[in-house]
Amino acid sequence: MISVHDALSLILDTVTPLAGERIGLLDAVGRVLFEDIRSEREVPPFANSAMDGYAVREEDLHGITADAPATLAVLEVIQAGAVPHHTVTSGAASKIMTGAVMPPGADTVIRVEDTEEHAGRVWIKRRERVGTHVRANGEDIRRGQTVLEKGRVLRPADIGLLASVGRGFVLVRQRPRVAILSTGNELVEIDEPLHPGQIVNSNAYMLAAAVQELGGQPVPLPIARDTLEEIRAALNEAVRHDVVLSTGGVSVGDFDFVKEAMDELGIRRLFWQVAQKPGKPLTFGLLRERPYFGLPGNPVSALVCFYLYVQPALARMMGHEKPFPPVVSAVVGDDISKAKGLTEFVRCRLASVHGHYEVHSTGSQSSGVLSSLSLGEGLIIGAPELALLPKGMEVKVLVLNGDHFARNEAPF
Ligand code: AMP
Ligand code: MG
Repeated sequence: MISVHDALSLILDTVTPLAGERIGLLDAVGRVLFEDIRSEREVPPFANSAMDGYAVREEDLHGITADAPATLAVLEVIQAGAVPHHTVTSGAASKIMTGAVMPPGADTVIRVEDTEEHAGRVWIKRRERVGTHVRANGEDIRRGQTVLEKGRVLRPADIGLLASVGRGFVLVRQRPRVAILSTGNELVEIDEPLHPGQIVNSNAYMLAAAVQELGGQPVPLPIARDTLEEIRAALNEAVRHDVVLSTGGVSVGDFDFVKEAMDELGIRRLFWQVAQKPGKPLTFGLLRERPYFGLPGNPVSALVCFYLYVQPALARMMGHEKPFPPVVSAVVGDDISKAKGLTEFVRCRLASVHGHYEVHSTGSQSSGVLSSLSLGEGLIIGAPELALLPKGMEVKVLVLNGDHFARNEAPF
C-alpha cells in the first residue's frame, strides 16, 4: 500500500503530454494552445472612429464654445466598411459612423450629440483634445506581436483575438481518448430491465461525464463479465486508446480478475492499493506508455479516484500547466470522525461564513452512497494520523465544483 502523495507522484512522473493537432477556431475554446501566436496584422487595421460623429481637424475648433460654435462644411457621410472619398481640409468635416475609416486630414471626432447639422453645414459646439474618439491602427495588436503564448487555455476573448488576427485554425494539444470499461456480472445497461441482483452500470455514465467535463473524449466500452477471459479481451481492446479507466474487479474478491488480466497483457503495474478512503483498491499501470487506471467499482470510490488521480493525469496529457483543482482552507463546523491510518477524503459542503470557509460533512461516507458526493462541493483532505477532525480545526479542502485547472502544485 502506498501513500496518496507517492501514488500521485508516480502517476504524474509517467504521463506525458499528447501531440498537437490543428483545429478550427469554433472548436478551440477550452483547448490548450500548442504554438505561440504572432500577429501578421495590425488590429484595428486602420484608424477609425470610436463614435458616431464628425471627423474634424482639431485646430479648426480653437476658441469655440457652446454659444460660439465652429461651422464646418460637411464633405460626405462615411459608413462603417466604406472608404472615405475626401480629405478633410480646414473649415470642413465628414460625418462618420463608429468603426468607419478616419478620412485623411482629420485627427479628431466630435460626438454627434455635441453638434447640429443643417443644409450641408455642421455646428460644432464642443472642443476635444486632438485624437479624441479616434482609435489608432494597431492600438489593440501590433504587427509581429505575440498575441497568445503556447500553454494558454483558450477562453472566449482569446478566440476573438485569434479571429481578429485572421487565424481560423490553431495548433492545440490533442484531447485524450479515454476508454471506460465497466466490469461486473451484476451490471446492466441503462435501457435494460433490472432483474434480481442487477444494478445499472452507472459508473460508465459518471466517468464519461467527468472525462467530458475536463475536455477529454470518453469512449464507453461494452460491460465485461467477471471472467478472466472476458476482462482480458476487453482490456486488450481498451488499451488502444490514450488512457484506460476500468471500474470494479480490483479488490480481493473471488471474481476480481483485473490485476491478473493486467499481468497477462503485460500492463506494468506501478501500484495496487493506496492508503486512502475511499478508493483504497486503486491500481495503476502502463502499457506502451499508455496509462491504465483500475478504479474500484464503488461509484464514490471510482469518482473520488478520478478527481484525485485521473484528472491531473488527463490535464497533463492535454498540456495544462495547472493540472490540479483549487484547494482552500476551511474551518470544520462539526466534529467529523475519520479512518485513522488512511488519508480520508471526506465529502463535504463548503459555505462562506464572514469571509472564511466553513465545512460540514455531507453525511454518510459509505463508498456506496453517491448522493453524499453529489450533495457537496468538496473533499476534505483528512491526514492519516488523525481519527477525528474536531469542530474548529482548520483543514484543506479540494474544491470540485470550481476551475479544474487551477493549481500547479499538487494538493497532497
Ligand atoms: P467491485 O469493485 O467490483 O467489487 O465493486 C464494488 C461495488 O461497486 C459493488 O457493489 C458493485 O456492484 C459496484 N459497482 C461495480 N461496478 C459498478 C458500475 N459500473 N456501476 C455501478 N456500480 C458498480
Ligand atoms: Mg465487481
